[in-house]
Amino acid sequence: MSLGLLFYIEPYVYISFNHDKILLFNTLNNKHIESNQRVIINLITKLVANNGVVPLTIDCVNNKFLKSFINKARLYYIGDVTNVKHNSNYPINILPDLKFMTETEVLNNPVNTIYESINSLYFFINNKNDLVSIEYNNLHTQFINYYANNSEYTEIHLHNIINIIDSLHNSSLTYIHISGGNLLHYSEIEGLINFLKNRTSRFKIIFNIFFTDLTSFRAIATLFHNMPDYFNINVIFDGSVTSNVLASVSKILNSACYEFVIQSNRDIKIIEKQLDFSYENEHKFSPYYNHNNKTFITNLLLIKSKKQIFNQKLSIPALDMKSRINSNFYGKIFIYPDGRVHANPNSKSLGNIYEENISDIIFKEVKDGESWKMVRKHLNPCKGCLYSSFCPPISNYEIVLKTNNMCNFT
Ligand code: SF4
Repeated sequence: MSLGLLFYIEPYVYISFNHDKILLFNTLNNKHIESNQRVIINLITKLVANNGVVPLTIDCVNNKFLKSFINKARLYYIGDVTNVKHNSNYPINILPDLKFMTETEVLNNPVNTIYESINSLYFFINNKNDLVSIEYNNLHTQFINYYANNSEYTEIHLHNIINIIDSLHNSSLTYIHISGGNLLHYSEIEGLINFLKNRTSRFKIIFNIFFTDLTSFRAIATLFHNMPDYFNINVIFDGSVTSNVLASVSKILNSACYEFVIQSNRDIKIIEKQLDFSYENEHKFSPYYNHNNKTFITNLLLIKSKKQIFNQKLSIPALDMKSRINSNFYGKIFIYPDGRVHANPNSKSLGNIYEENISDIIFKEVKDGESWKMVRKHLNPCKGCLYSSFCPPISNYEIVLKTNNMCNFT
């Protein structure tokens, strides 16, 4: 029997389900309710199917679990009850329905889709590694922009780099990373720098240089005299760097950012000690999994409590976005010296720039790719977890560690 009572959920409340649990999260005050009571799950299922509003029957109001749930929902500003018998304004409550392109829209507008999706290009212009320890050959798979190997020397032709950047000139492309190998060995390094200086001021260009010794660094630094303000130099150091070296590098190129490759807590302590004496500029620590330091990497990534999950400021669009795309990977394209194109260094190649047009290659990721849309709700053991949209997106560390659940409470 209808009582004229309607229960509704506020439009700023995010709802997450699995087979036997439900979570309602108020994105304005971070209050949340979790329940495994079937009556509550059934009520919210009906409410979701009915745009966020559901009539309350006599059975509902007499059920102790529902009564307590509704009281809590009102207390937390998650939902409320309205009496439509005495109120001529029937509440129209629309749960957020965020629009993403449908598959048909994607297929009908391939160029637009690519132009709107692409954000960052990573060129590994050569594979020269004669100056850096072989143990760092996998840095590119872990968010650190260095790629080298002992195979035959290979580099991307400058005219291919120019064609790719020109073809994406009107897209949302913002960041262009230039990395190696040893950049000094690139046969057209001056031509590349001149091209980037003269034609691409609307991009942010980042050169990633792995520091090996002061002589080489001086040689490469001379290429960046009078560089425009949209050029950024990122100097990558390993854990053995000393304060004297940092001071010298700072004198040679004082505007560079420093990136420290760390493999243990000891590395962090040593580098912090060196920084005390010598350096004030922007810097960051980049963890590196070397197959012997799993505990160190896992501790950095571990989500230790639900409190950590619910303490974040997350809007409905942000949560919805997290359930559909991986913000660590989305919009990024990696191009290797032999022309291979990857949406992620750990995923399979999408194609080769020497055989196909870059737009056609990127479209493969937009349409059927595995990386940009790699989200927890599709992968075990996170699949079905209520918090899959709340946890940080899967990162390359989880891929190389071959484990996805970076939590210790589910
Ligand atoms: S199982 Fe996955 S989604 Fe769930 S809390 Fe752990 S890491 Fe997050």
